[in-house]
Amino acid sequence: MKHRKLVILGTGGTIAGKADHAADNIGYTAAKVGIDQLLAAIPALTGSGLFISEQVSQVDSKDMSFDVWAQLAARVRHFLADDDVQGIVITHGTDTLEETAYFLQSVCQPAKPVVLTCAMRPATALAPDGPQNVMDAVAVARHPEACGVVAVCAGTVHSALDVQKVHPYKLDAFSSGDAGPVGYVEEGRLRLLRNWPFPQTGIACAAIEKVATWPRVEIVMNYAGASALMVQALVDQGVRGLVVAGTGNGTIHEDLQAGLLRAQASGVRIVRSTRCLEGRILPLSGNAIADSQGLSPVKARIALMLDLVAQDATSSAVGQA
Ligand code: ASP
Repeated sequence: MKHRKLVILGTGGTIAGKADHAADNIGYTAAKVGIDQLLAAIPALTGSGLFISEQVSQVDSKDMSFDVWAQLAARVRHFLADDDVQGIVITHGTDTLEETAYFLQSVCQPAKPVVLTCAMRPATALAPDGPQNVMDAVAVARHPEACGVVAVCAGTVHSALDVQKVHPYKLDAFSSGDAGPVGYVEEGRLRLLRNWPFPQTGIACAAIEKVATWPRVEIVMNYAGASALMVQALVDQGVRGLVVAGTGNGTIHEDLQAGLLRAQASGVRIVRSTRCLEGRILPLSGNAIADSQGLSPVKARIALMLDLVAQDATSSAVGQA
Protein backbone atom coordinates (compact mmCIF):
# COMPACT_ATOMS: atom_id res chain seq x y z
CA MET A 1 0.00 0.00 0.00
CA LYS A 2 1.26 3.45 -0.94
CA HIS A 3 2.15 5.46 2.14
CA ARG A 4 0.52 8.87 2.02
CA LYS A 5 1.98 11.99 3.57
CA LEU A 6 1.56 13.17 7.12
CA VAL A 7 1.45 16.86 7.89
CA ILE A 8 3.04 18.12 11.11
CA LEU A 9 1.89 21.57 12.21
CA GLY A 10 3.78 23.43 14.96
CA THR A 11 1.93 25.85 17.24
CA GLY A 12 4.40 26.29 20.13
CA GLY A 13 4.05 25.09 23.74
CA THR A 14 6.49 23.47 26.14
CA ILE A 15 7.35 20.87 23.52
CA ALA A 16 9.07 23.81 21.76
CA GLY A 17 10.34 25.30 25.03
CA LYS A 18 13.89 26.29 25.95
CA ALA A 19 15.47 26.48 29.41
CA ASP A 20 18.95 27.74 30.37
CA HIS A 21 19.88 24.42 31.98
CA ALA A 22 19.10 20.88 30.93
CA ALA A 23 18.15 20.07 34.54
CA ASP A 24 15.43 22.72 34.58
CA ASN A 25 12.04 21.26 33.68
CA ILE A 26 9.87 24.19 34.74
CA GLY A 27 11.85 27.45 34.42
CA TYR A 28 11.75 27.54 30.62
CA THR A 29 10.25 29.75 27.96
CA ALA A 30 7.63 27.95 25.87
CA ALA A 31 7.37 28.25 22.09
CA LYS A 32 11.02 28.92 21.15
CA VAL A 33 12.08 25.97 18.99
CA GLY A 34 10.74 25.80 15.42
CA ILE A 35 8.89 22.73 14.18
CA ASP A 36 11.65 21.80 11.73
CA GLN A 37 14.26 21.89 14.49
CA LEU A 38 12.00 19.79 16.71
CA LEU A 39 11.57 17.20 13.98
CA ALA A 40 15.29 17.20 13.17
CA ALA A 41 15.81 15.81 16.69
CA ILE A 42 13.75 12.74 15.72
CA PRO A 43 15.65 11.33 12.70
CA ALA A 44 13.84 7.98 12.91
CA LEU A 45 10.73 9.85 11.95
CA THR A 46 11.69 12.32 9.31
CA GLY A 47 14.14 10.29 7.20
CA SER A 48 11.31 8.89 5.07
CA GLY A 49 10.43 12.11 3.23
CA LEU A 50 6.77 11.43 3.92
CA PHE A 51 6.29 14.50 6.06
CA ILE A 52 5.24 18.06 5.36
CA SER A 53 5.91 20.42 8.25
CA GLU A 54 4.64 23.92 8.81
CA GLN A 55 4.86 26.46 11.63
CA VAL A 56 1.33 27.80 12.10
CA SER A 57 2.08 29.80 15.25
CA GLN A 58 4.65 30.00 18.02
CA VAL A 59 2.69 30.54 21.26
CA ASP A 60 2.62 29.42 24.84
CA SER A 61 -0.83 27.84 24.76
CA LYS A 62 -1.87 29.68 27.92
CA ASP A 63 -2.02 32.66 25.51
CA MET A 64 -4.03 30.83 22.84
CA SER A 65 -6.20 33.18 20.82
CA PHE A 66 -9.14 32.99 18.44
CA ASP A 67 -6.87 34.26 15.66
CA VAL A 68 -4.51 31.31 16.05
CA TRP A 69 -7.49 28.95 16.17
CA ALA A 70 -8.87 30.38 12.95
CA GLN A 71 -5.45 30.10 11.24
CA LEU A 72 -5.00 26.55 12.48
CA ALA A 73 -8.49 25.49 11.38
CA ALA A 74 -7.78 26.94 7.92
CA ARG A 75 -4.51 24.99 7.58
CA VAL A 76 -6.15 21.79 8.86
CA ARG A 77 -8.99 22.22 6.37
CA HIS A 78 -6.48 22.85 3.56
CA PHE A 79 -4.39 19.74 4.24
CA LEU A 80 -7.37 17.45 4.97
CA ALA A 81 -8.68 18.20 1.48
CA ASP A 82 -5.45 16.85 -0.09
CA ASP A 83 -5.91 13.19 -1.15
CA ASP A 84 -2.19 12.64 -0.71
CA VAL A 85 -2.42 13.47 3.01
CA GLN A 86 -3.23 10.64 5.39
CA GLY A 87 -3.52 12.73 8.54
CA ILE A 88 -2.25 15.66 10.56
CA VAL A 89 -0.19 15.87 13.76
CA ILE A 90 -0.22 19.17 15.67
CA THR A 91 2.34 20.04 18.33
CA HIS A 92 0.67 22.19 20.99
CA GLY A 93 1.08 23.44 24.55
CA THR A 94 -0.59 21.35 27.21
CA ASP A 95 -2.44 24.19 28.95
CA THR A 96 -5.23 24.66 26.42
CA LEU A 97 -4.72 21.55 24.31
CA GLU A 98 -8.16 20.22 25.27
CA GLU A 99 -9.78 23.45 24.07
CA THR A 100 -8.03 23.44 20.70
CA ALA A 101 -8.84 19.73 20.29
CA TYR A 102 -12.52 20.33 20.95
CA PHE A 103 -12.57 23.43 18.74
CA LEU A 104 -10.97 21.60 15.80
CA GLN A 105 -13.26 18.61 16.23
CA SER A 106 -16.29 20.90 16.21
CA VAL A 107 -15.31 22.94 13.17
CA CYS A 108 -13.50 20.34 11.03
CA GLN A 109 -15.24 17.05 11.99
CA PRO A 110 -12.42 15.27 10.18
CA ALA A 111 -12.83 11.87 8.60
CA LYS A 112 -9.00 11.67 8.67
CA PRO A 113 -6.98 11.71 11.92
CA VAL A 114 -5.94 15.02 13.45
CA VAL A 115 -3.66 14.20 16.38
CA LEU A 116 -2.61 16.82 18.90
CA THR A 117 0.49 16.16 20.92
CA CYS A 118 2.57 18.05 23.45
CA ALA A 119 5.20 17.78 26.17
CA MET A 120 5.46 18.52 29.85
CA ARG A 121 9.21 19.12 29.63
CA PRO A 122 10.95 21.61 27.35
CA ALA A 123 12.94 20.53 24.29
CA THR A 124 16.17 21.35 26.17
CA ALA A 125 15.45 18.97 29.10
CA LEU A 126 17.84 16.15 29.96
CA ALA A 127 15.06 13.70 29.17
CA PRO A 128 12.44 15.54 27.11
CA ASP A 129 9.10 13.80 26.59
CA GLY A 130 8.27 15.63 23.37
CA PRO A 131 10.08 13.38 20.83
CA GLN A 132 8.39 10.20 22.11
CA ASN A 133 5.00 11.93 22.15
CA VAL A 134 5.50 13.01 18.53
CA MET A 135 6.49 9.45 17.56
CA ASP A 136 3.36 8.13 19.29
CA ALA A 137 1.17 10.76 17.63
CA VAL A 138 2.56 9.77 14.24
CA ALA A 139 1.80 6.10 14.99
CA VAL A 140 -1.81 7.07 15.74
CA ALA A 141 -2.11 9.24 12.62
CA ARG A 142 -0.76 6.32 10.55
CA HIS A 143 -3.37 3.87 11.91
CA PRO A 144 -5.58 2.86 8.96
CA GLU A 145 -8.85 3.43 10.83
CA ALA A 146 -7.92 6.58 12.73
CA CYS A 147 -10.33 9.48 12.37
CA GLY A 148 -11.40 12.62 14.20
CA VAL A 149 -9.42 14.80 16.58
CA VAL A 150 -7.55 13.00 19.34
CA ALA A 151 -4.78 13.93 21.75
CA VAL A 152 -1.71 11.81 22.47
CA CYS A 153 0.39 12.25 25.58
CA ALA A 154 2.53 9.79 27.55
CA GLY A 155 1.45 6.87 25.37
CA THR A 156 -2.25 7.47 25.92
CA VAL A 157 -4.79 8.46 23.26
CA HIS A 158 -7.70 10.65 24.38
CA SER A 159 -10.71 11.84 22.39
CA ALA A 160 -11.21 15.57 21.86
CA LEU A 161 -14.48 15.30 23.71
CA ASP A 162 -13.11 13.77 26.89
CA VAL A 163 -9.52 14.96 27.22
CA GLN A 164 -8.64 17.24 30.15
CA LYS A 165 -5.33 18.33 31.61
CA VAL A 166 -5.43 17.09 35.19
CA HIS A 167 -1.87 17.50 36.44
CA PRO A 168 0.48 20.51 36.36
CA TYR A 169 3.76 18.53 36.42
CA LYS A 170 3.53 14.78 35.72
CA LEU A 171 4.43 13.64 32.21
CA ASP A 172 1.10 11.80 32.05
CA ALA A 173 -0.84 15.02 32.57
CA PHE A 174 -4.13 14.18 30.83
CA SER A 175 -7.20 12.14 31.60
CA SER A 176 -10.34 11.16 29.73
CA GLY A 177 -12.26 10.97 33.01
CA ASP A 178 -14.74 8.16 33.37
CA ALA A 179 -15.06 7.80 29.56
CA GLY A 180 -11.55 6.32 29.58
CA PRO A 181 -8.89 6.71 26.88
CA VAL A 182 -9.35 5.69 23.25
CA GLY A 183 -6.22 3.57 23.44
CA TYR A 184 -2.52 3.28 24.20
CA VAL A 185 0.54 3.46 21.97
CA GLU A 186 3.08 0.79 22.82
CA GLU A 187 6.35 0.60 20.86
CA GLY A 188 4.77 2.28 17.87
CA ARG A 189 1.62 0.15 17.89
CA LEU A 190 -1.81 1.40 18.78
CA ARG A 191 -3.85 -0.73 21.18
CA LEU A 192 -7.40 0.46 20.67
CA LEU A 193 -9.69 0.27 23.71
CA ARG A 194 -12.87 1.61 22.19
CA ASN A 195 -14.33 2.87 18.93
CA TRP A 196 -12.86 5.95 17.32
CA PRO A 197 -14.84 8.88 18.64
CA PHE A 198 -17.54 9.89 16.20
CA PRO A 199 -17.10 13.35 14.81
CA GLN A 200 -19.93 15.53 16.18
CA THR A 201 -21.86 18.02 14.19
CA GLY A 202 -20.76 21.59 14.45
CA ILE A 203 -20.30 24.74 12.49
CA ALA A 204 -18.51 24.50 9.14
CA CYS A 205 -14.84 25.40 9.17
CA ALA A 206 -15.32 27.81 6.27
CA ALA A 207 -17.68 29.89 8.44
CA ILE A 208 -14.96 30.23 11.09
CA GLU A 209 -12.62 31.83 8.56
CA LYS A 210 -15.19 34.60 8.07
CA VAL A 211 -15.68 35.50 11.74
CA ALA A 212 -14.62 39.11 12.27
CA THR A 213 -15.54 39.41 15.96
CA TRP A 214 -15.89 36.42 18.19
CA PRO A 215 -18.94 36.49 20.46
CA ARG A 216 -17.86 37.13 24.04
CA VAL A 217 -18.61 34.11 26.24
CA GLU A 218 -17.18 33.90 29.76
CA ILE A 219 -17.09 31.33 32.55
CA VAL A 220 -18.25 31.99 36.11
CA MET A 221 -17.82 29.50 38.90
CA ASN A 222 -19.99 28.50 41.81
CA TYR A 223 -18.33 28.38 45.24
CA ALA A 224 -19.11 29.18 48.85
CA GLY A 225 -20.17 32.82 49.04
CA ALA A 226 -20.69 33.20 45.27
CA SER A 227 -22.78 36.20 44.26
CA ALA A 228 -24.27 37.85 41.17
CA LEU A 229 -21.62 40.60 41.12
CA MET A 230 -19.44 39.05 38.43
CA VAL A 231 -22.43 38.22 36.26
CA GLN A 232 -23.69 41.80 36.46
CA ALA A 233 -20.25 43.20 35.57
CA LEU A 234 -20.04 40.91 32.53
CA VAL A 235 -23.58 41.71 31.39
CA ASP A 236 -22.78 45.43 31.70
CA GLN A 237 -19.82 44.82 29.35
CA GLY A 238 -22.01 43.17 26.74
CA VAL A 239 -21.21 39.50 27.30
CA ARG A 240 -23.32 37.31 24.99
CA GLY A 241 -23.03 34.03 26.80
CA LEU A 242 -22.06 32.68 30.20
CA VAL A 243 -21.11 29.17 31.22
CA VAL A 244 -21.46 28.48 34.90
CA ALA A 245 -19.10 25.90 36.34
CA GLY A 246 -21.55 24.70 38.96
CA THR A 247 -20.81 22.61 42.00
CA GLY A 248 -21.71 18.89 42.00
CA ASN A 249 -24.67 18.16 39.74
CA GLY A 250 -24.52 21.72 38.36
CA THR A 251 -25.83 23.34 41.52
CA ILE A 252 -25.55 27.13 41.82
CA HIS A 253 -25.60 29.43 44.88
CA GLU A 254 -29.02 31.09 45.07
CA ASP A 255 -27.53 34.61 44.71
CA LEU A 256 -25.46 33.66 41.65
CA GLN A 257 -28.45 31.78 40.21
CA ALA A 258 -30.66 34.88 40.60
CA GLY A 259 -28.07 36.94 38.66
CA LEU A 260 -27.81 34.29 35.93
CA LEU A 261 -31.59 34.10 35.54
CA ARG A 262 -31.77 37.89 35.24
CA ALA A 263 -29.03 37.78 32.58
CA GLN A 264 -30.86 34.99 30.76
CA ALA A 265 -34.10 36.98 30.79
CA SER A 266 -32.22 39.91 29.21
CA GLY A 267 -31.05 37.69 26.29
CA VAL A 268 -27.66 36.40 27.48
CA ARG A 269 -27.26 32.66 26.72
CA ILE A 270 -26.53 30.68 29.90
CA VAL A 271 -25.22 27.11 30.11
CA ARG A 272 -24.76 25.07 33.28
CA SER A 273 -21.77 22.72 33.61
CA THR A 274 -20.03 21.17 36.58
CA ARG A 275 -16.64 21.92 38.08
CA CYS A 276 -16.34 18.19 38.97
CA LEU A 277 -13.62 16.56 36.89
CA GLU A 278 -15.52 13.35 36.28
CA GLY A 279 -19.08 12.42 35.35
CA ARG A 280 -21.64 14.70 33.81
CA ILE A 281 -24.66 16.67 34.97
CA LEU A 282 -27.79 14.56 35.22
CA PRO A 283 -30.72 16.71 34.12
CA LEU A 284 -33.52 17.52 36.57
CA SER A 285 -36.91 18.53 35.27
CA GLY A 286 -37.73 22.19 35.85
CA ASN A 287 -34.13 23.42 35.58
CA ALA A 288 -34.33 26.90 34.08
CA ILE A 289 -30.72 26.81 32.83
CA ALA A 290 -29.72 24.39 30.03
CA ASP A 291 -26.97 21.90 30.89
CA SER A 292 -23.74 21.42 28.97
CA GLN A 293 -24.50 17.87 27.76
CA GLY A 294 -21.44 16.46 29.42
CA LEU A 295 -19.01 19.16 28.29
CA SER A 296 -16.52 20.59 30.76
CA PRO A 297 -16.83 24.35 31.42
CA VAL A 298 -14.08 25.29 28.92
CA LYS A 299 -15.54 23.08 26.19
CA ALA A 300 -19.11 24.22 26.93
CA ARG A 301 -17.82 27.76 26.40
CA ILE A 302 -16.45 26.86 22.95
CA ALA A 303 -19.71 25.08 22.03
CA LEU A 304 -21.70 28.16 23.04
CA MET A 305 -19.39 30.49 21.13
CA LEU A 306 -19.71 28.38 17.98
CA ASP A 307 -23.47 28.30 18.41
CA LEU A 308 -23.52 32.09 18.59
CA VAL A 309 -21.25 32.33 15.52
CA ALA A 310 -23.69 30.09 13.60
CA GLN A 311 -26.63 32.15 14.85
CA ASP A 312 -24.93 35.40 13.73
CA ALA A 313 -24.16 33.91 10.30
CA THR A 314 -27.82 32.89 9.88
CA SER A 315 -29.16 36.28 10.90
CA SER A 316 -26.75 38.15 8.63
CA ALA A 317 -27.76 35.84 5.71
CA VAL A 318 -31.45 36.55 6.46
CA GLY A 319 -30.65 40.28 6.70
CA GLN A 320 -29.00 40.21 3.25
CA ALA A 321 -31.85 38.25 1.59
N1 ASP B 1 2.38 26.78 29.21
C1 ASP B 1 2.73 25.69 28.32
C2 ASP B 1 1.76 25.72 27.15
O1 ASP B 1 0.66 25.37 27.31
C3 ASP B 1 2.64 24.41 29.07
C4 ASP B 1 2.92 23.19 28.26
O2 ASP B 1 2.96 23.16 27.06
O3 ASP B 1 3.11 22.13 28.91
O4 ASP B 1 2.15 26.12 26.07
